[in-house]
Amino acid sequence: MNKCVVCGAQFKPLKHYPERKTCSEECLRIHMKNLVPEAFLENCFKEGNVPFNKGVPQKEWLSKEARERCSKTYIQYQENTASPLSKIEGRYLPHNTYSKGTITKRKHIHKKGKFKGKVDYEYYINIDWKGNRKPNNLYRRYLWEYYHQQDIPKGMVVYCPSTNPDDWTKENLQLITRGDLARLNRWG
Ligand SMILES: [Zn+2]
Repeated sequence: MNKCVVCGAQFKPLKHYPERKTCSEECLRIHMKNLVPEAFLENCFKEGNVPFNKGVPQKEWLSKEARERCSKTYIQYQENTASPLSKIEGRYLPHNTYSKGTITKRKHIHKKGKFKGKVDYEYYINIDWKGNRKPNNLYRRYLWEYYHQQDIPKGMVVYCPSTNPDDWTKENLQLITRGDLARLNRWG
């Protein structure tokens, strides 16, 4: 039998928790409150507290300068974050935007499957075949669409039989279904 720390009553502890100090949930709540430092309870908001600016217009409790500072926290309104390209294209572009048609080479590490841990390099372009901006567009997909002057149909992928990533000839870019790709990449 254990003795309750709060009310002093005797109670039988549970099998999986023999060192239990309180008899009931109510006593536990009081015990936990006693463990918290008093300064913390004094400084925190009381139950049913109403915020000082509830229902009050922002003009009445914030100075003009502070309001202007708040409105500029949105990244779109900051002048130094806009790219010089945004004036040419007529819309907001982030400061690190590449010009149209830039090709980037990115590292890709396989996380699962047959080639787990393998390091691959893939090429990306930031436009589609019509010349509109499309970041994270795979360069081989772009090339296939550019050679054939049409969109890739839904459910189709560009497959390259050659293992050389820099082989961008028309013969190396073949269009197959996702089902065929799964069969090719099958284990074993
Ligand atoms: Zn108790």
